[in-house]
Amino acid sequence: MTTKPINFGAGPGKIPEDVLKEAQQEFLAYEGIEFSVTELSHRSDTYAKINETAQNDLRELLNVPSNYKIIFLHGGGQGLFAAVAMNLMGKNKIADYAVTGIWSQVAANEAKRYGQVNLVFPTPDNPGNIPEPSTWTITSNASYVYYCDNETIQGVEYPFIPDTKGVPLVADMSSNLMTRKFDISKFGVVIAAVQKNLGTAGLGIVIIREDLLGNALDICPSILNFKQVSDYNSILNTPPIFPIYLHGKVLKWVKKLGGLEAMENESKRKSQLLYSVIDSSNDFYQSTVPVNTRSRTNVTFRIKDKNEELESDFLKKAEEKKMFQLKGHSLVGGIRVSLYNAITYEDVEYLVDFMKEFQSNNA
Ligand SMILES: *Cc1c(COP(=O)(O)O)cnc(C)c1O
Repeated sequence: MTTKPINFGAGPGKIPEDVLKEAQQEFLAYEGIEFSVTELSHRSDTYAKINETAQNDLRELLNVPSNYKIIFLHGGGQGLFAAVAMNLMGKNKIADYAVTGIWSQVAANEAKRYGQVNLVFPTPDNPGNIPEPSTWTITSNASYVYYCDNETIQGVEYPFIPDTKGVPLVADMSSNLMTRKFDISKFGVVIAAVQKNLGTAGLGIVIIREDLLGNALDICPSILNFKQVSDYNSILNTPPIFPIYLHGKVLKWVKKLGGLEAMENESKRKSQLLYSVIDSSNDFYQSTVPVNTRSRTNVTFRIKDKNEELESDFLKKAEEKKMFQLKGHSLVGGIRVSLYNAITYEDVEYLVDFMKEFQSNNA
């Protein structure tokens, strides 16, 4: 039996094969035109349709109400970190941040360049020990409260939506958007870089409640200004056409598979299977994240009390079996399995079979 390679990478993550094949077929000549979509004018009707369709599908899939704008932005995740601060801190230059891992820390550091950043709780020793929302110190006149819904590097995911006592809530959902239902009306802004679960790098998504537009600092570049980009329907300057085109294809693929509910069910099934194998391994595989904050999309674990030799052997043997990009982030080490939507339940079964075999050979 020849095995298909499985890309368990944390980002850029796996893109559905159907999407890649379609893009390949159309690459030299896009439907209705006789040249490539990457050569297409952003002022053309054809591009207007690609842009419009992707926005509409995203709105439909996530059930985004009409008083929220969807904006496509350059600059990926970290571009969004700066954009959030520059667009929302304009009122009084105070913002609250919940730091539970590396991405929320990077976001808070970026915001400090533009105003005062208050931490709503002292950073927990174990990133998975997210303090009870009732204990958070929210600054009543803060422009917003920011948190990262899924810490991709540590593998920590929020099991609740924080109550911010009326202060607009901003969430980074780069690595778990489109994997579970959530009530967007609880948020002021949701941001996501798409290369984890929703396409290829170069594109950031902003979903913003309309009344929060128009508070940008003067220094905010036009191409990162939510109001300006939104007024141009995300075609202020040349947008990242190919990433938006591919993002649109991923959204169609999600719709075909049954939408957000289907993604949520699969995400639950896949992560439960993997965690159950970790938890029943007699501490051969060790998760350091408390059960209630374990990520469904980025499963992190160590092998036999951080035995780095065994871990690198695990990675090597996994690659021999065509499972790639399983190495944990260099800042935390260990193994990280990213279970984005394009990873199937069968892919996870194949992985856990390997994990059991590796354990029995090395226990
Ligand atoms: C990957 C990631 C980012 C950073 O994305 P870049 O596009 O590389 O800047 C930010 N936040 C989260 C949660 C991520 O997973």
